[in-house]
Formats: sequence, C-alpha cells, structure tokens
Amino acid sequence: MHKRQIENILYAGVVGDALGVPVEFSKRDSYYIKSMTAGGTWEQPKGSWSDDTSFTLPLMENLTADGNYEQLMQKFENYMFHNEYTPDKLAFGIGNSCAKAVRNWSINQYPALECGDPSVYANGNGALMRLAPLAIHLADESDLNKRLRLAYEYTCLTHRHPRAIVGSYIYLEILHGLLNGRALRAILNYLPEQLNQALQNCPDELAELSQYDEMFQNNFGMTLRKDIKSSGYVVDTLLASTWCALASTSIDNAIILAVNLGDDTDTIASITATISSCENLTDHVSEDWKNQLRNPELLNSIIAPFAKKEASRALV
Ligand SMILES: [Mg+2]
Repeated sequence: MHKRQIENILYAGVVGDALGVPVEFSKRDSYYIKSMTAGGTWEQPKGSWSDDTSFTLPLMENLTADGNYEQLMQKFENYMFHNEYTPDKLAFGIGNSCAKAVRNWSINQYPALECGDPSVYANGNGALMRLAPLAIHLADESDLNKRLRLAYEYTCLTHRHPRAIVGSYIYLEILHGLLNGRALRAILNYLPEQLNQALQNCPDELAELSQYDEMFQNNFGMTLRKDIKSSGYVVDTLLASTWCALASTSIDNAIILAVNLGDDTDTIASITATISSCENLTDHVSEDWKNQLRNPELLNSIIAPFAKKEASRALV
C-alpha cells in the first residue's frame, strides 16, 4: 500500500467519526446529514472527532513506536485523564467499558491484557472502533493464527467477552481480505468457515460466531434498512457498518448512509468509512470533509509517520 492510501483509510475513519458526532444518539429519520455540522449531545463545534479517533490515535502512535501493551494503556490513560489525543483538550463521550478498562489500568493497576471487562454486558463496539491501524499493520501478515492472536490481545485491553473478541476477528479479517484485493462479498462467503476452523480449540469464541450469522447470509446486502440496527452493541455496529459498505459504491456515500442510521452514528460511520476505504483503495474520502476536521496538526503528526512506516515496511 502507498502512504497516501494508508492516510486515506485513517482520515476516512476520522471523517466518519466527525460527521456522526452531532447526531450521535439521535433517532433514525429525525434528521438528515450530508455535510459537517456542529452541535449534538456533546455540543461540539463542526469537525470535532470523538473517543473513536482518540482511542485510535494512541494505537497508531504505539504501533509506529513499536510500543507494548503497557505503553498503549498509558496512552489511553493520557487521553481519558489528561485530555491528550483530542481536538481541543477535552475528552468526551467515552464508552463505559473503555472508561472502566482505563480505570482498571491506572487506578486498580491491573495487567494491561486483563483491563477489559469479561462480562456479557460489556459487548459494546469500543474495541472495534480503534482497530483500523492494526488492520493496516497486519495487511501483509499471512499467518491467520498470528493475526487472530493480535486481534485478541488488542481487544482484551478494553473488552474481554468472547463476543466482542469474535467481533474484532471478523472486522479485522474483513479488512485483511479487502487490503489483499478480495471483494467484500467474497470475504463474507469464506470467513465463517475459516474462523470456524481456526477457533476449534477456543469453544467460548466458537460459540459466539453464530451471533454474527446474519451478515454472512448471501442476501445480507439486500436487508431492508428498517431491519438494520445501529446501536453501540458490537454485533449491531459490525452488521450495520458492513451493510452500509455493501450498499454503497463510494466511500462518501457509505459514510452518509451510516451517519443517517441514527443512534451510534459516529462509531458506525467511522467503521463504515474504514471498511469502505479498504474496499475502494483508488477512491478517497471527500477533501472538503477532511479539511474541516479540527486539530489537523495533531491528526497529521500521528497519521503521517504511521503511514510512512507502514508503507515502507510493505515494500521490504
Ligand atoms: Mg464517539
């Protein structure tokens, strides 16, 4: 992958986040968004990006620096308690499981890989939303078991229930397939069997695969919009984002579709943007939207070195 393609994938995710922030938790069809706007639950100015990006940036920075999980948890703490990695030194909208994990790290002093909540009630989309840089980092990794192990560990930092972990497996394997030139529909066809085989020795995870069955059906892309749920539950988020990507022919259209589903709009639009930009590597997210993102200096200071490192590594 070229540096600019990597940058485009990452900026598309930030754009999706920022477009979704003003309508997060809004009811579907109570609004229609097609441009950057201000306001919303968090009363943020236009172009504000949220926790989705603020958890993604530390992961990116940590991968660039070859940092370990302890250093990454420290960066998450720096975000939540010291407002680093934000548009203007204000952390807002952090999900319960992520917040609990950071408190487990900084206050309760848990080991990094045990900070995530293992409860079945802790199956939000908070791990999915930060994993785009890991997908790029693993694009050339041909060993499925190694990819799944890293997906597992990076998820466990905040989410340890097998359903959230399997959600990360599916999401990262979709991105891996797309970055290796496969079509989204083709990936959804082979993925259940591939994961079924790979997880034979992990009964808890294997049992959760069926939670995602609907997205692997041949006619999933034809699902009616009214039947697509757009909550922050990891299953709903992954299905909604995949559906938006399947139903769109450009990154911008996929993002608009996602932002207008209502409820957890910022995360779903961000994940949709990531899937769609990995699917359309010759397309790019709207320059107009990208230019309206707040704190572009911070974004560029973390995205550019990461993209440079990953692009050069891919050429080796
Ligand atoms: Mg958010």
